[in-house]
Amino acid sequence: MALTGGCSCGAVRYETAAAPFHCTLCHCVDCRRVAAAPAVAWFTVPAAELRYVRGAPAVHRSSPQVERSFSAACGSPLTYRNDAYAHEIDVPGCSLDEPELAAPQDHTWASQKLRWMRVDDMPAYSRSRGEGRE
Ligand SMILES: [Zn+2]
Repeated sequence: MALTGGCSCGAVRYETAAAPFHCTLCHCVDCRRVAAAPAVAWFTVPAAELRYVRGAPAVHRSSPQVERSFSAACGSPLTYRNDAYAHEIDVPGCSLDEPELAAPQDHTWASQKLRWMRVDDMPAYSRSRGEGRE
């Protein structure tokens, strides 16, 4: 089943036939600021398998290793790509037409979470997945 989604105004639309993996709720400061939200749900697909079917996002570097993209028309965050894992691309789950298809399985960067955010409902990693549980 193809996953479809895009930015809030529809100027950029994507689809992927890949199965989403690494579905997580990220609490890192960068995600929080980029989305102006307390945490961001992400899923990952092979970068080569994410296809833009309308428009294309604008790109900026949020840190030396990290490229993030967004809709230049409405500002919605669209992708995250780390140079160390360039064959993968992360997409915010709530940009999907059906966000339930990529429900988070864990919390990442819980060490940076806001005090009023709860992380006791799923496994919580203090940094990225595999760098140790909270
Ligand atoms: Zn993050």
